[in-house]
Amino acid sequence: MTISEHFTLEELTFSEAATRLGLDNTPIPIVITNLGRVAAAMERIRTLLGDKPIVVHSGYRSAEVNRAVGGVVTSAHCRGLACDFVCSAFGTPAEVALATLKSDIEYDQLILEYGWVHVGLAQEGLLCRREALTKRSPGAAYESGIRA
Ligand SMILES: [Zn+2]
Repeated sequence: MTISEHFTLEELTFSEAATRLGLDNTPIPIVITNLGRVAAAMERIRTLLGDKPIVVHSGYRSAEVNRAVGGVVTSAHCRGLACDFVCSAFGTPAEVALATLKSDIEYDQLILEYGWVHVGLAQEGLLCRREALTKRSPGAAYESGIRA
């Protein structure tokens, strides 16, 4: 099911871990609504990056899937408000994160992670913090700003 010009509900709910471990990752209606907002934000990012293809690593994660992949309990992924992605035709994750940082695209959190970029949105009606962070490895603390 297409939820924006270039993104499908399937790619924003696909979880390799869920498939492997047999966990349910079916989104409830509010999550589908939120994923629609994420897809709209991702369309703006796609345009910003020169209309190059974006590969989604992780969008929605049910609580049990999130637990299985070691995600933080409060993760925006669990509400369908976040997307981890790469756009290698544009550049490295650091280049993608810096371009997004410099844009006027609204996000709550932009995180340069080890191998991909995380974009999180605020819940409907809440203000975006527009917080930018870098996480260099699974065990590393979050550093302020986008640090290539
Ligand atoms: Zn993420």
